[in-house]
Amino acid sequence: MSNPNWKQLNVAVVGGGLGGMAAAVALRRAGHKVSIYERRDFKVEVGASISCAYNGGQWLREWGVDVKRGKPVNLMKLTMRDWETGKILNQYDLDHYEQDWGLPYYMFHRVDMHEMLLECATSPDGEGEPATVVVDHIAKTLDYENGVVTFENGEVIKADVIIGSDGIRSVLRKEIGVIPQMRSAPQTCYRCNVKKSDIEKFGLMADAVDPAIQFWGGFTKGDINRYYKIVMSPCSDGEIVSFYCFMPTEMTNHTQEGFVFEEVPVSDIMAGMYNRLDPLAKGLIEHSIDRMPWRLYVHQPYPYWHKGKTVILGDAAHPMMPHQSQGACMAIEDAAALGIIFGKEYDFANNVEAGLAFYEHIRKPRATRVQAASARATENLNERIGFTSLSAPDAALAAKEGKLTVNEMNEYKMHDHIAKEAKHFSNLFSSPQTSPKALPSA
Ligand SMILES: Cc1cc2nc3c(=O)[nH]c(=O)nc-3n(C[C@H](O)[C@H](O)[C@H](O)COP(=O)(O)OP(=O)(O)OC[C@H]3O[C@@H](n4cnc5c(N)ncnc54)[C@H](O)[C@@H]3O)c2cc1C
Repeated sequence: MSNPNWKQLNVAVVGGGLGGMAAAVALRRAGHKVSIYERRDFKVEVGASISCAYNGGQWLREWGVDVKRGKPVNLMKLTMRDWETGKILNQYDLDHYEQDWGLPYYMFHRVDMHEMLLECATSPDGEGEPATVVVDHIAKTLDYENGVVTFENGEVIKADVIIGSDGIRSVLRKEIGVIPQMRSAPQTCYRCNVKKSDIEKFGLMADAVDPAIQFWGGFTKGDINRYYKIVMSPCSDGEIVSFYCFMPTEMTNHTQEGFVFEEVPVSDIMAGMYNRLDPLAKGLIEHSIDRMPWRLYVHQPYPYWHKGKTVILGDAAHPMMPHQSQGACMAIEDAAALGIIFGKEYDFANNVEAGLAFYEHIRKPRATRVQAASARATENLNERIGFTSLSAPDAALAAKEGKLTVNEMNEYKMHDHIAKEAKHFSNLFSSPQTSPKALPSA
């Protein structure tokens, strides 16, 4: 049944990362005209593994994304290992994950996942009009009331809705007046990859290619503090094993913010307690490629996510520490919410500002909860989704302790939540300037 109160919108997505691509997919499927503006050429995409639990994967399924195109590894275990001996200390089984939730727990390589979403956003197949992509456009300023973005190359565009998916150092966030409250994290990270062919060639740790996320450290043990942690997982059809190597911030040689694209030597990672790391893990890192530093920051929740015709999503709205592996999933959920809210079931396409306020109302409590849990998991690996169920096997108890569980993440029903809240919202939100704080919490 067609909705006479719905209309097609021109949507400008500024930032073509994972969140921006997901938003483009969701909004083109909702019937809108989408243009993606990205600051650089996608050829410089780098990165390691990105895990995509059911709460993200369900949207890929709903959107008809060809997941095989992303070459996922389906995870079967989360394994905790001792830093020095590599002895398995604990294991959370994902054997029943697909049976329980209807989808596997995917592990993608960032580049593959990005290509998969880009293809889905721009393909002539699939619902809605294909999104267009414009590269080498760095957003500089924004007129949020009128929906006008000016780029560094002098080009100016106007749209009905502007989506700021421009990542952790978002220009659009600054332009809507949000000043991040953030501090340098006590922990820093190096990412690197090891090729499966090199594991075979050099006879390295054979079970590195097991479909599991394997952790070393993450707990204080004697003089080895909790900030020493490794997170390892295979991705890209199992051809690459990806590593996140964490250490206390004071150990790093790389104090500058940003994604540095110059490879660092192995010796930069093998500092401090890495000398005492399990020899099998050490052997892998010594044969790694693509070694990049990754500075981490802890952000407080932002006061608001939208102003006028502009809204922020993904890392621009709720940057989080990586310890719940939920950064990409939260960006996908944001995109899903926008797709539903501006879809034909609702009237928000006729009142963009109310729709953006509603999006914030729906998304902020859940994303903020995950953001806080990601910061807690920096200090204690038992706070990680999955391990929370081992340390407090009773889901109700874990919830009472405020811990995030697999159940809480995967049982959430966004369509129902939006339908329920939309009823209150249209009455409460008579003026686009009303503070969303006055609304009932989700
Ligand atoms: C290079 C890179 C590597 C990453 N690697 C990992 C990883 O290995 N593991 C992990 O868990 N997370 C990684 N992340 C973070 C992870 O991708 C995010 O948590 C999550 O995917 C949220 O996506 P996002 O779209 O909000 O942000 P991002 O994926 O960061 O995308 C933001 C996009 O906006 C573009 N952009 C920024 N400023 C402007 C501007 N002024 N004008 C136009 N475009 C702009 C950027 O080039 C980028 O493409 C990485 C991010 C980046 C950018």
